[in-house]
Amino acid sequence: MSAKPAIEGGRPVRAEFLPFHRPAIANAEIQAAVRALRSGWLTMGPRTQEFEERFRAYVGAKHAVAVSSCTAGLHTTLAAIGVGPKDEVLTSPLTFTSTAMVAVHLGAKPVFADVDGETFNLDPEAARGRLGPRTKAMIPVHHGGLPCDLDALAAMARANGTFLLEDAAHAFGASYGGKRIGAVGDATAFSFYATKPLTTGEGGMVTTDDGALADRLRSLRLHGISRDAWKRYTATGDWYYEVLDAGYKYNMTDVQAAIGLVQLRRAETLFRKRRSAAAYLTKGLRGLATVTVPRERRGSVHAWHLYPILIDVDRLRIDRAKFIEAMRAENIGTSVHFIPLHLQPFYQKAFGYRRGDFPVAERVYDRIVSLPLYPGLTRADLDDVVDAVAKIVAHYGG
Ligand SMILES: *Cc1c(COP(=O)(O)O)cnc(C)c1O
Repeated sequence: MSAKPAIEGGRPVRAEFLPFHRPAIANAEIQAAVRALRSGWLTMGPRTQEFEERFRAYVGAKHAVAVSSCTAGLHTTLAAIGVGPKDEVLTSPLTFTSTAMVAVHLGAKPVFADVDGETFNLDPEAARGRLGPRTKAMIPVHHGGLPCDLDALAAMARANGTFLLEDAAHAFGASYGGKRIGAVGDATAFSFYATKPLTTGEGGMVTTDDGALADRLRSLRLHGISRDAWKRYTATGDWYYEVLDAGYKYNMTDVQAAIGLVQLRRAETLFRKRRSAAAYLTKGLRGLATVTVPRERRGSVHAWHLYPILIDVDRLRIDRAKFIEAMRAENIGTSVHFIPLHLQPFYQKAFGYRRGDFPVAERVYDRIVSLPLYPGLTRADLDDVVDAVAKIVAHYGG
């Protein structure tokens, strides 16, 4: 493959741009949303209840509480367990801002521990070093859908009296030690954002086996008013309600739940497609000396939300930013997950984090690129992705 990269004036591998992501919305989702709209019940109601019940059963948890986003789920859960000023919440710096910002909103300090350079997940040894008497909660992130080392993290959380809240925004469909993600930690928050493995446009879910916590989450997601207060709008309901808590407006709507129910029914099919697309990419890319491909770990099932590769910038004559530009010129969309939070101005200003604090996360950040991975990709699309990567690393290869 000695073809000239498009960014150097060569022909792009494909004529039409391949977006980094396209949601897997079919006619069934569209019709379900229309039925919900025609039903006369738009906000949280029977469809949300059914979605919670089916989601709970799917992941194998005792309770599921639907919310407006994963961010809302994380925030509500931290509030429900009483996180406040003087508390610390331990998480990965290689995540989306909301994982840490929810702690900030409750007056707590986000404390980062470095990641493992191969899994991009919290390094249990690094996490152990940051656990202390103030660590009220730990939020491991299953990066890209690859489960964290939950045995190690759960053991140290338990020993420290720390609540284990998993950020499973990427991990719907993943398993760990024979259990689905959502049935492992003290609580787990999922995202149904447009790009995530199960989508309702926007939305989220918290699962837990703790009934008291689930009750508290149900109240907090809807203004802190008495449980099932939405029933007051039904024929059997009542006009009376009580505000019991400083709650939020974080409920799901029945239009979202209607879409979610269909996505949940199609979950196995969509998962198989992502998994087989990932395997196809790996087959095409693993022979390239300057590219490291993601892999599944023994004892866990990867959700394959993302396909993050590492490019060997020490041997290539381009950096990661230029690589992304070169892919764009080949008409392939890519992304970066994530810009480490300790490099973001807010976290530096508010908490004094600096470059150099988490060297593994920084090293990963300088090399990581997420390639397109979603159910709608054809073999020809995947061939184009592989050809584009191969062409670029061959041209700039060391
Ligand atoms: C997308 C994402 C979130 C936020 O999800 P929302 O549903 O958009 O709030 C949180 N954590 C991670 C790791 C994410 O990728």
